[in-house]
Amino acid sequence: MIKDDFPYFSNSKITYLDNGATTQKPQRVIDSVVKYYSEYCANTHRGSYKDGNLATLNYEDTRDFVRSFINANSSREIIFTKGVTEGINMVASSFVKENFKTVIISSLEHHSNIVPWHNLGYKKGNGLEVVRFNNNLEFDLSHFEELLKKNPGAFVSVTHVSNVFGIVHPIKKITELTHKYGGKVLIDGAQSLSRINIDVKEIDADFFVFSSHKSYGPTGVGVLYIKESNIKSFKLYQTGGAVIDRVTYDDSTFLDSPLCFEAGTQNIAGVIGFKSALEYIKSISYEVIQKHEKYLLELLHKGLGEIDDVLLYTHSNLVGGNLSFNIKDITPIDLGLLLDKQGVAVRAGHHCAMPIMEELGIDGTVRVSLGIYNDKEDIENFLAKLKRAVSILKD
Ligand code: PMP
Repeated sequence: MIKDDFPYFSNSKITYLDNGATTQKPQRVIDSVVKYYSEYCANTHRGSYKDGNLATLNYEDTRDFVRSFINANSSREIIFTKGVTEGINMVASSFVKENFKTVIISSLEHHSNIVPWHNLGYKKGNGLEVVRFNNNLEFDLSHFEELLKKNPGAFVSVTHVSNVFGIVHPIKKITELTHKYGGKVLIDGAQSLSRINIDVKEIDADFFVFSSHKSYGPTGVGVLYIKESNIKSFKLYQTGGAVIDRVTYDDSTFLDSPLCFEAGTQNIAGVIGFKSALEYIKSISYEVIQKHEKYLLELLHKGLGEIDDVLLYTHSNLVGGNLSFNIKDITPIDLGLLLDKQGVAVRAGHHCAMPIMEELGIDGTVRVSLGIYNDKEDIENFLAKLKRAVSILKD
């Protein structure tokens, strides 16, 4: 059983269905973090002694593993960050700010792909454009092309998989169209890396960001992929130690990518643990993960369909891992609380996606988001507890 690989499930009886927020960690990830702290804890790229060298070796080994995992050309293109939020903020202020008049996003973005644009002065209708969605909440490619025609050379920043509804965006078409109209594109892979094989060359993204913690790795670590041709126009985001070639009181010169973009001491243990998480995903395979998720989503849809007054927001086939719903006349927060009381962890609320909630005329939803370890029993348990919660709240 996959759950046996995750110590959390031996210590907790919770039915964990909040994987869109963060995932549990397999023992091998925990072991590699503990090993670093207990056997060779030292800073990277500094010490010329054994443990310092070993820490550097394992840190850089992870970079190379990530490079190969997402099929990037070179390790120069792989920058370690705190996560997706930091990755998007870096691209916004170091690349987009001075070079792009227009930023185009989708309707299904997480706040971390909306607020950084506001922060730089891009507002809807004044530098920020939002692609419409169809009845199934799917990305409207013809509206997208209209926006690109109107704003040639725009910067496009879209999520790969919606954290609320699981909709999978047609990112290959999005990058093709963006490039056709002279723009650049960032893909937010926060919700996709755990379930979809990422090949940055095939996708042809200019930037691709993800967080380790949503793909079974440690918190506080993420990756910003920068396509080689964009590196020289990418300004330094932060400066200080570790990025330096030479400093005098008058001036400083910097190392080359990737180190010039990683100022200060990094989350060394987290980076090393992330490699174990990616190895774990590889050992299971995306094919198995997708097949299993599809099976669980079908069970969920069938079960929810048997409950009165369920409101689903999409019937799209382009769905991975996350599903949102409401029950008529019951607030999602009340449902979330009653599920929690019965030992089921789901997320209830706006899911850091307030604009789409407003467009749909709702305050929030209940979201079930799946992980590698969820099984039929989890879904049956969730459905039984949901029915109980609904009957209490309707009483
Ligand atoms: N984008 C999406 C689609 C997300 O789901 C999340 C996290 N919920 C983020 C960005 C932000 O990720 P992080 O908190 O790891 O920076």
